[in-house]
Amino acid sequence: MDNQEQLRASLCDVAIRLNDTGLNHGATGNCSVRTAQGFLITPSGVANRNLTPETIVELNMEGEKITPSDFNASSEWLFHKDLYLANENINAVIHSHAPYATSVSTLKKDLTPFHYMIAVAGGKDIRCADYALFGTQALSDHILKAMQDRKACLLANHGLLTVGENLDIAFDITEEIEHLCMVYLNAKKLGEPEILTDVQMEEVVNRFQSYSRWRKD
Ligand code: 13P
Ligand code: ZN
Repeated sequence: MDNQEQLRASLCDVAIRLNDTGLNHGATGNCSVRTAQGFLITPSGVANRNLTPETIVELNMEGEKITPSDFNASSEWLFHKDLYLANENINAVIHSHAPYATSVSTLKKDLTPFHYMIAVAGGKDIRCADYALFGTQALSDHILKAMQDRKACLLANHGLLTVGENLDIAFDITEEIEHLCMVYLNAKKLGEPEILTDVQMEEVVNRFQSYSRWRKD
């Protein structure tokens, strides 16, 4: 397998794994991975269980197909492209409708540090990007603002977005944030969670720098 084939296969694997682990469902969400000339992205409206390497679409940074394909690129290609252009350390982008994260996204609030693992997104909170219609430049603009110095954000009334140096890291962050959102919703049933201070969160972010799995960059 050459590199392009490998990337197509791992993109299908990660999208299917998201569904199999309950982090996503049906044809929702989309995943992409950077290539030498642009990025590979999942097709629009195809059930994740039916993804095969042939259904994956390759786009350049203008959004044009590099390789001929009968499939349309994900309707969210704009924010995938804008994230790659904004940060050269990003090599993978995962957007999911993970059920707990999506529930929290409907509150349209930044997630405050009720748990130290909030720092998995790279800072003291996980921001919630303002709502805009899916597939629009407005949504991409809101996302880029929320993703400043972060590896993840919620999308108001929509879902979750994570990025990483590779697909495995973006997947792991998705899984971690979904767990955090489940804990948050449970805690809210019991009362108002105690929030960690800025100093406590700075400590965690600094500690993660020497804890390779959740390094900031
Ligand atoms: P696509 O099937 O076009 O990728 O759209 C799914 C989605 O989650 C839109 O936000
Ligand atoms: Zn979506």
